[in-house]
Amino acid sequence: MADKLRGEGIIPNEFVDKRTPYTQFQVWLGETGGAIGCPVDCQYCFFQLDGLTPAKPREGLTPQELVEELGNASTYAPNIPVNYGSETDAFATRKNVAYYSEVLQRYGASDYPNPVVFISKREIPDQIMDLAAEIPQPVLFYMSYSGLGDTPLEPTVKSEVIRDNFIRLKEHDLTGVHYWRPFLPQNSTPEKIEEVLSHVAEYASCSVAIGLRLNDGIQANIADFWPELGASTYDFTKTGEFWPEDVRDYLMKYTKQHYPDYPVFFGTTPCSATFALETSDIRGAYRSSGCLESNCPPFQRERCGAAFATPTEEQIQAAAEKMDIAMEDISLIDNRITVRGKVESGKLVYLRYALKYPVISEAVGYAAGYNWANVRDEGRIIEIPWRNNWIKAAKNRQLGKLGIHDLGL
Ligand code: SF4
Repeated sequence: MADKLRGEGIIPNEFVDKRTPYTQFQVWLGETGGAIGCPVDCQYCFFQLDGLTPAKPREGLTPQELVEELGNASTYAPNIPVNYGSETDAFATRKNVAYYSEVLQRYGASDYPNPVVFISKREIPDQIMDLAAEIPQPVLFYMSYSGLGDTPLEPTVKSEVIRDNFIRLKEHDLTGVHYWRPFLPQNSTPEKIEEVLSHVAEYASCSVAIGLRLNDGIQANIADFWPELGASTYDFTKTGEFWPEDVRDYLMKYTKQHYPDYPVFFGTTPCSATFALETSDIRGAYRSSGCLESNCPPFQRERCGAAFATPTEEQIQAAAEKMDIAMEDISLIDNRITVRGKVESGKLVYLRYALKYPVISEAVGYAAGYNWANVRDEGRIIEIPWRNNWIKAAKNRQLGKLGIHDLGL
């Protein structure tokens, strides 16, 4: 397992990459050299495809080595959130908890200012909460709560444990962010949506709702649970999020109508971090499609608007040089920086963090991330039919009442 390349065997091959202690994913600088392997066994997880779940975590670097390596990451910048435990669930085993407790301790004693992010579906131990409260750097707990716990899609996940985490985080005065993904027919019923939303609206800082990420292997895994998804072929280098048809739109309207004061971000995970960190746009999302679609509070929109600025040529040059991109390949047109040619996704993400400005390239090379999370503005939202689409049925009933027959909407 340790010698396997990330994404090996996954088409297209450009996604294959050597493991390094840290990897720049679309949102986080992910720690990828600590504990590797996850016992949680979610069926939609890309780890399914390279033997990393279900798997017993194995430790790589020591906690001290791991912390020391952070500054050497090629895209390191002091404002990028660092996700510890990105190749495991940091709280899934007692050994993992001991390991990441030490990481947190050593990180807290370091000079790095970066916010720390943990993403988990397991109980957050008290010792981790106590450490998070003690260290000077901000720590965000992303609770992955889809509502699919206790089903074959998340066979070892207990929804009650995650729900309780939100309550305990609030009691500890710590920040819990609700990671709401993926959406499948099984968790898209009105009851399930309300069950999840009513709880997090009371206890979490905000939610970020994201569709399913797919490649060939995961499509095959999920086809049993969602046959319509398995029925087509896609060019996964061009796809973004997959959603059950009508659900995204319903969720946008429902959250705005029933939970108007609770922030729900759509596809814009960096905005959830921005909001939870009580700062302005950290990664050039302001006025993007995700920004405009999200239910972001007016005071936050003002905060981001006030901080929004076009970067100077010197700033662009410094960021481009660090990423080994020539200035002649960069153009700034219509409030957007475009880099000519195919650029590795991690470099684009770095530019966005460094400049806090929209940055795209003519084509994206998904090295190291194998489409785990597309760059939102280039990734299409793809809506797939599903049996028991109650939203469509309700629309049709409404139309029927108006004397209009089923128009197949
Ligand atoms: S205003 Fe836009 S960019 Fe800023 S946090 Fe809200 S959604 Fe994100």
